[in-house]
Amino acid sequence: MKHYEQLYIGGQWVAPAGKGTIDVIDSGTEAVMGRIPEGIEADAEAAVAAARAAFDAWASTPAAERGAYLQKIAQNLKARTDELAEIIAGEVGMPLKLARAIQVGSPVYNWSLYAKLASEFQYEERLGNSLVVREPVGVVAAITPWNYPLNQITLKVAAALAAGCTVVLKPSEVAPLNAFVLAEAIHEAGLPAGVFNLVTGFGPVVGELIARHPEVDMVSFTGSTRAGKRVSEVASATVKRVALELGGKSASVILDDADFPAAVKGTVSACFLNSGQTCVAHTRMIVPESRYEEARALAKEAAEGFTVGDPREEKVKLGPLASAVQQARVLEYIERGIADGAELVTGGPGLPAGVTKGFFVKPTVFGRVPRDAAIAQEEIFGPVLTILTAKDEDDAVAIANDSLYGLGGAVWAASDERAMRVARRIRTGQIDINGGTWNMVAPFGGYKQSGHGRENGKYGLEEYLVYKSMQLKAPKI
Ligand code: NAD
Repeated sequence: MKHYEQLYIGGQWVAPAGKGTIDVIDSGTEAVMGRIPEGIEADAEAAVAAARAAFDAWASTPAAERGAYLQKIAQNLKARTDELAEIIAGEVGMPLKLARAIQVGSPVYNWSLYAKLASEFQYEERLGNSLVVREPVGVVAAITPWNYPLNQITLKVAAALAAGCTVVLKPSEVAPLNAFVLAEAIHEAGLPAGVFNLVTGFGPVVGELIARHPEVDMVSFTGSTRAGKRVSEVASATVKRVALELGGKSASVILDDADFPAAVKGTVSACFLNSGQTCVAHTRMIVPESRYEEARALAKEAAEGFTVGDPREEKVKLGPLASAVQQARVLEYIERGIADGAELVTGGPGLPAGVTKGFFVKPTVFGRVPRDAAIAQEEIFGPVLTILTAKDEDDAVAIANDSLYGLGGAVWAASDERAMRVARRIRTGQIDINGGTWNMVAPFGGYKQSGHGRENGKYGLEEYLVYKSMQLKAPKI
């Protein structure tokens, strides 16, 4: 068991002002796998003060030097890959092999990427008689969720540090152990004191304090739309910059001339990755009414092919959900889907066969889901696919856009041209064309209530910069 008793503030491990602790539960065994401090307001205050004190020096540190620190952090994390994969598989429930590649491989890649971007980015531009410079926005509060915990942290912290900002991180209380490993990696890299600070605790206490704090210049939040709205509200009092990466209900639109076996299999995989605990999960599969039976059969076969079990077992493709709360929430949605008249194609209520412990849910598919049903509109965050039918292409686009969210999606058609034409009509920040794969440097973020921030690559770096124009005396003609 990992027991962390201190917080990382001002370049040191310090005793928290709060006396409470939070248990971290292993999603596959329900055993306590770790314990962390429950930080309180005084801890968050100390972290903000440390970040403020460190800002001027860090902002004026040459970008290449900042990049060199980030590269060291990437190396330190990489050296702890096995340990981190074990931790995150336990915290979140993602199968170990996938956790190694996605939950650890992506953060290591992103720390290196931001190391490079820090020095390669063009911070200045001459425009007429102005020199337009891009400066770090200031002290950043980063508030992150549990589903891809270390990567969500990295996309904020590495980008902010690269830009010259200092950071106070409040990670999710559900999956916080990886953040302590990161703090150790940062300390070992010798990052100047106060540039990075870690305060664990609950959202309404530590999260709201840093979002509201007058000495914080920007809050970058990833999490639920509910909490994102609250963060915006409290941040507005000081007119600080806010970046929100929120929930989703992404549609996979399969057009009549698509390769159905590939499209349905691809959609089910994109829905069930990380047991459906993915903000861009393709949770609504929209198919032509005329080909419903075929799509239904393919989805059933694909879903039933997901071996459920302990994330540490080699053959397992679908692990548990992260917490008991999440499991109860997903089971409630499954009951609601049945009550709302959707056809239960596979899965359903109860635990998967042979499972007695862990926060498991059966891989579930609902067919002929009414468009206004809760399971077609609300983010479930579990392995639950809904199939909706459309009369034609226009109807498919209308259903895809009939959502409060606008995060991701997919279009499948016989040609990329047709798929792209349809994709342009869908109001989301990302769309995969005929199985197009994740791009770590393409901008990622939402439309509508999925938020308005952008992360990944240079787009993520730009979030932490602010423009300044310096007017020079107009040149003589
Ligand atoms: P959550 O909103 O419950 O918690 C996210 C973080 O916010 C946690 O650190 C939590 O402690 C904190 N928090 C909660 N209430 C707060 C408050 N009042 N003030 C300040 N902070 C508060 O979300 P979660 O359950 O951890 O994560 C799942 C959600 O995150 C899903 O909705 C998912 O779609 C979303 N998500 C979005 C993206 C994206 O990039 N758009 C990526 C991953 C996850």
